[in-house]
Amino acid sequence: MNLNDKIRTIPHWPTEGIMFKDITTLLQDPEAFRETCNQLHDRYKNMKIDKVVGIDARGFIFGAVLAYQLGVGFIPVRKKGKLPFKTISQEYTLEYGENIIEIHKDAIEEKEKVLIVDDLIATGGTISATVKLVEMLGGEVVECAFIVEIPDLKGREKIKGYKIFTLTGFEGE
Ligand code: AMP
Repeated sequence: MNLNDKIRTIPHWPTEGIMFKDITTLLQDPEAFRETCNQLHDRYKNMKIDKVVGIDARGFIFGAVLAYQLGVGFIPVRKKGKLPFKTISQEYTLEYGENIIEIHKDAIEEKEKVLIVDDLIATGGTISATVKLVEMLGGEVVECAFIVEIPDLKGREKIKGYKIFTLTGFEGE
């Protein structure tokens, strides 16, 4: 199955010049959704992952399914002001803006092996900030997994030294 065909592109959303990759079309296709989740599970089932961290909001969908499949805990990294307990936070810029993300202080223990999941890597700002949060809590980032990559935006360069895994990519957009 070609996952690219299941992802819809919305030009100039949320702002002029952005080619937004809309994964809701993949989610509403049961075979494509299952195939996506199973591909991630196949990759990580034999790695010793202690926790899956999912990034607000689309990373929650794939990250939570994967944590369930792996039988490990799921940790949400959320936009500022959403987490109710004590948090640490990190500012970042992404393809179409800037923001602050947070994680609960007690979410990860020292030396735990963490897999981070999001729907898409563009400029790499969001994942870099998430890696910092995980490391501030003492976690070890095993890999960062994405459904989609936009290689022209060179997100991998922003996060050099960490392993990046992507299921599909859109070149030249
Ligand atoms: P970045 O920090 O630039 O790598 O942006 C990645 C984050 O912003 C992810 O959480 C994506 O969901 C979202 N994002 C950035 N650019 C796009 C895009 N072109 N299409 C869909 N989501 C995007």
